[in-house]
Amino acid sequence: HSKEQGRNTYNFYTQKMNEDVARRLLIEEQLRAALEKNEFQVYFQPVVDLKRREVIGAEALLRWNNDVLGPVAPDEFIPIAEQTGLIVAIGRYVLEQAVTVAAGWRNEFLPSFRVAVNISPRQFRDVSLVTFIRELLERFDFPASGVELEITEGVLMTGHAMVDVALLDLSNMGVGISMDDFGTGYSSLSYLRSYPFDTLKVDKSFINDITLDQADLQLVSAAIAMGQGLGLKVIAEGVETEEQYQLLLEQQCDYAQGYLFGRPVPADEFEKMLMTGSKQLH
Ligand code: C2E
Ligand code: MG
Ligand code: MG
Ligand code: MG
Repeated sequence: HSKEQGRNTYNFYTQKMNEDVARRLLIEEQLRAALEKNEFQVYFQPVVDLKRREVIGAEALLRWNNDVLGPVAPDEFIPIAEQTGLIVAIGRYVLEQAVTVAAGWRNEFLPSFRVAVNISPRQFRDVSLVTFIRELLERFDFPASGVELEITEGVLMTGHAMVDVALLDLSNMGVGISMDDFGTGYSSLSYLRSYPFDTLKVDKSFINDITLDQADLQLVSAAIAMGQGLGLKVIAEGVETEEQYQLLLEQQCDYAQGYLFGRPVPADEFEKMLMTGSKQLH
């Protein structure tokens, strides 16, 4: 009986594994043609000044709607784009879209508008990343300080000297550098000391329970104090409720992002919000 069970378990796992491998391969195959087929869309989620409750900028978040697979979440396709190197071209597309759209918004609605773009480790192995960004900014006469590049400690863990050089070049240009998902990694603290960060984004897993869990609130409070003590601006990610907002206000957090203020939406929808002046939220 147990032998039978063992075999079934084995079959179950191999079947599951085969399905995972098949889906991965399909995603990879579809991803290769996705740029040409124009299947990507860059969404924008508001970043809000906590005290004034006003939009100061947005994070660009990539969306993919494939004709075979339907919508695929970034948490599923970004790692595959990363492993295959496709993220280099896709990442350039995101940067270009983000700066194009943000340049228009700076001119029309909000001269100080800042746009944040996520950059994967693999993109730093592209020798022309810095040149690409410099030329992109020149093309739109977009100030470097209007762009924030979000990296996770995964970028720094690669240990490539190229990453250090690129980050320093970008930082010297005036481009902002954010540490994304702060607190979820192993060595965020030591990296904060060694790299030219301007902004610290406290991961949403810490924000989730601040109204219920005293320990989480203490951690967030400490992260805010530490970030600000190092001269960084602090953004709270994943703010969903008014109660969380109030606590973060008490903790003097600088900025916030989350469903309470707005979900990621297509550029035209974001623009409507800026246009109707509802950049003053709630
Ligand atoms: P991230 O950079 O940490 O982005 C924040 C994620 O939290 C986004 O998920 C956003 O939609 C979600 N979020 C925002 N507010 C809330 C909230 O109040 N509650 C909850 N539950 N979630 C909230 P999304 O768009 O699915 O992206 C997931 C991750 O995929 C991103 O995490 C980022 O690491 C990666 N990603 C997305 N777009 C890009 C891109 O263009 N390039 C790269 N390299 N990575 C990207
Ligand atoms: Mg991010
Ligand atoms: Mg994050
Ligand atoms: Mg994340």
